[in-house]
Amino acid sequence: MSQDSLISSSTVHIIGAGWSGLACAVTLSRAGIPVQLLEAAPQAGGRARSVQYRKSFPHTLLDNGQHIMLGAYHHTLKLFKQLDIKEQDVLYRQSLNLVLNSPRSPVIRLTAPALPAPWHLIIAMLTFKNISLTDRLKLVLMLVRIRLKQFTLTKDCSVAELLNHYSQSQRLIEALWEPLCLATMNTPIKEASAQVFLTVLEKSFNHSRQNSDLLFFKSDLSSVFVNKALNAIRQHHGIILFNHRVRNIELQTDTSSSNTFIVHTTKETITASTLVLATPAYITEKLQGQVFNLKPEHSKLKLTYQPICTVYLQYPEHIKFEQVMTGFFGTLSQWAIDHRINKQPGLIAVVISSSGRHLQLPEEQLVDTIHNELKLVQPDLPLWLQYQVVIEKKATFNCTVNINTVRPDFNTSNKRVFLAGDFTRTTYPATLEGAVISGIQTARHIIKQHKR
Ligand SMILES: Cc1cc2nc3c(=O)[nH]c(=O)nc-3n(C[C@H](O)[C@H](O)[C@H](O)COP(=O)(O)OP(=O)(O)OC[C@H]3O[C@@H](n4cnc5c(N)ncnc54)[C@H](O)[C@@H]3O)c2cc1C
Repeated sequence: MSQDSLISSSTVHIIGAGWSGLACAVTLSRAGIPVQLLEAAPQAGGRARSVQYRKSFPHTLLDNGQHIMLGAYHHTLKLFKQLDIKEQDVLYRQSLNLVLNSPRSPVIRLTAPALPAPWHLIIAMLTFKNISLTDRLKLVLMLVRIRLKQFTLTKDCSVAELLNHYSQSQRLIEALWEPLCLATMNTPIKEASAQVFLTVLEKSFNHSRQNSDLLFFKSDLSSVFVNKALNAIRQHHGIILFNHRVRNIELQTDTSSSNTFIVHTTKETITASTLVLATPAYITEKLQGQVFNLKPEHSKLKLTYQPICTVYLQYPEHIKFEQVMTGFFGTLSQWAIDHRINKQPGLIAVVISSSGRHLQLPEEQLVDTIHNELKLVQPDLPLWLQYQVVIEKKATFNCTVNINTVRPDFNTSNKRVFLAGDFTRTTYPATLEGAVISGIQTARHIIKQHKR
């Protein structure tokens, strides 16, 4: 079959092949709706993809940044199942066990026992190692009170204000809340939305114990999900066009007043009847502005962004950390993930969320600082053999106070134009799960529309 014969008036054109665009395309394809994906890059995956760093790691694929999932990512796990991706093959599941190191403090450990939620968390908090009894009780009291309020605020405030309201000590904030907030929302506690944070806590800790499990990828992101999703789309005769950056979209209304969109890409011009903009927010606002002929100030989504820096350090293969994931506070390093779980012995990925002084440091100095911080965990750590610093400048949207009120819905004022992406109103912060939920939700809506 030629590509042209596969394009029908019912074809849905999805712009962007990140996890939201892929989730949307897979869901539509499985429902028998033809799709065409237009992707600017030479590969799919967007902000969660694998990269070949030829100079530093010529023989292995690394991700564009360390990614971790939670047991609460039900939509992503369900999508994996639909694609016949077996959890035990691609994910290493570990029950909640946080070990946090600092140059100024003994090691702090939060370990959840095998009890049903929320008891696993309450016991974990009561037995929190190297945290005073008063602080442990304050933690449990906060959990009980926010649970009574069903993790909902009448008025959003910052995470810092929320913690102050529940009398959390400076030590608890520095050693637990700040690292958790940065890890889940990539936004500093003084700016982060308390409501979104409570939603994350509710989803992770308030239902089954498994929701708070940490899930580590056993292989690179493209092999685990992206390539499988592309295969499934192709099997359903979907078309994927790489290196097709959408530059401009024109809306044409013909005599029957049905819409046609003329999509100008860097390679060709395409006619479309239904569009899903699955691009990052700052591109979506531009494309949406063109479709609806909006002035820039009216198409602005009012979002700001935060970077994430991942430093991959290759040590000799025998180097093994006690934990798969080790936390740090009072340091530049925030989390270190031992890649022995994905058959990369000696490879440690260190994550630094949000902006900070690390972005100003020369690369060698940043790597030296991190290497020295890792010695907190492994004092006899030998010198690294190789490294790669990856900085994603617009990694996630800034999840600030009242953010949910400015996040757009997946519907637009044109019933043939939809949005997908982690920034849409999913209640999650910028995450894989948020991206997948948005893609599926948009697809389901289009499927319903097709059935009518
Ligand atoms: C370093 C890093 C670490 C992260 N860690 C985690 C984590 O541990 N856990 C977690 O859950 N989440 C994490 N995230 C967040 C997660 O990766 C994102 O929320 C998710 O990938 C967003 O997917 P998306 O489809 O919404 O957007 P994107 O991935 O941005 O996809 C948009 C796609 O649109 C394409 N595109 C852009 N412009 C055009 C155009 N004009 N024409 C055609 N195509 C275009 C892009 O190339 C891209 O492929 C992390 C993100 C980063 C960057």
